[in-house]
Amino acid sequence: MSLPVVTSGDNEVYEDPLDLMDEIDELKKEKDASILAHFYVDGEIQDIADYSGDSLKLARDATRVKTSTIVFAGVHFMGESAKIMNPEKRVLIPDMLAGCSLADSCPADQLAAFQEQLRSDGRDFETVAYINTTAAVKSLCDWIVTSGNAQEIIGRVPAGKEILFVPDQHLGRYLMEVTGRKMILWPGSCMVHEVFSIQDLIRAKRNNAGSKVIAHPECPQNILELTDFIGGTEKMRQHVMAVKEPTTFLVATESAMIHAFEKSAPQHKFVPIAGIMTSTGETCACNRCPHMARNTLQKVRDCLKNESPEVEWKDYFQQARAVLDKSLLK
Ligand code: SF4
Repeated sequence: MSLPVVTSGDNEVYEDPLDLMDEIDELKKEKDASILAHFYVDGEIQDIADYSGDSLKLARDATRVKTSTIVFAGVHFMGESAKIMNPEKRVLIPDMLAGCSLADSCPADQLAAFQEQLRSDGRDFETVAYINTTAAVKSLCDWIVTSGNAQEIIGRVPAGKEILFVPDQHLGRYLMEVTGRKMILWPGSCMVHEVFSIQDLIRAKRNNAGSKVIAHPECPQNILELTDFIGGTEKMRQHVMAVKEPTTFLVATESAMIHAFEKSAPQHKFVPIAGIMTSTGETCACNRCPHMARNTLQKVRDCLKNESPEVEWKDYFQQARAVLDKSLLK
């Protein structure tokens, strides 16, 4: 959990989280706003949210919001998706700098150039994009998938077509395995899921006799090979809820997800698997996404109060919307 502080120049000022929550409640009424929070943001933000969930659930929830303003506590591409689904609403995000290493690994101009090259080589393909992409990339694709619906959507790509899967090579490799479809994989990855330490996973299994490993399919193959249950965040949550016998789960996904697991299935113990700090090579028991961690209660309060930063509509959102609509809502 991040410390409840505000930054004023170099000085950080403590603010009581309960006062902040009350203030946010008041502002929500005053500004006619709803809060959507991804499972990877701090638990205290999930607790004040009107909707919390994974990318697929939140994309669908965004279409049901009745208020005129949405605050999306997550990362930038999620705010874009909420705006695409709700062009007439004001969509605010607590921190404009909350990006995503995976989305950044597939710039739209590079994807367009690669697609052009494939076409000129006579390849007949459809492009399937993981939802962790910018709206500009979504507008270049035929399908958008989340880890929750990828298998179903890939089944909708005609058998005679090749599949170009972007941007996550690990999720793509896993989907090739479970669907039996060959894919051209874009070499992107998530900075959080890529760094889980296999040695620490083996050690954690040894130290927790009888434990089960649950992992996100964005993890590399060596982690998935030691995993008992592979699924997106919502599927993992459903899985731990379905297990009634108290169990220790070793968790290979962003560690804020443990808050949602503990709320949904308090009978279990959840242990985050360590990641390797790429800067030092040391392992750390807290796999926090630095982009998701930019969301704080203070920033949620401030963006409501200032009605900024706001996601602005762009021309290419219209095409991205057509792809999102047919992929996620139909
Ligand atoms: S956890 Fe990975 S995929 Fe998710 S927002 Fe952070 S960098 Fe992007």
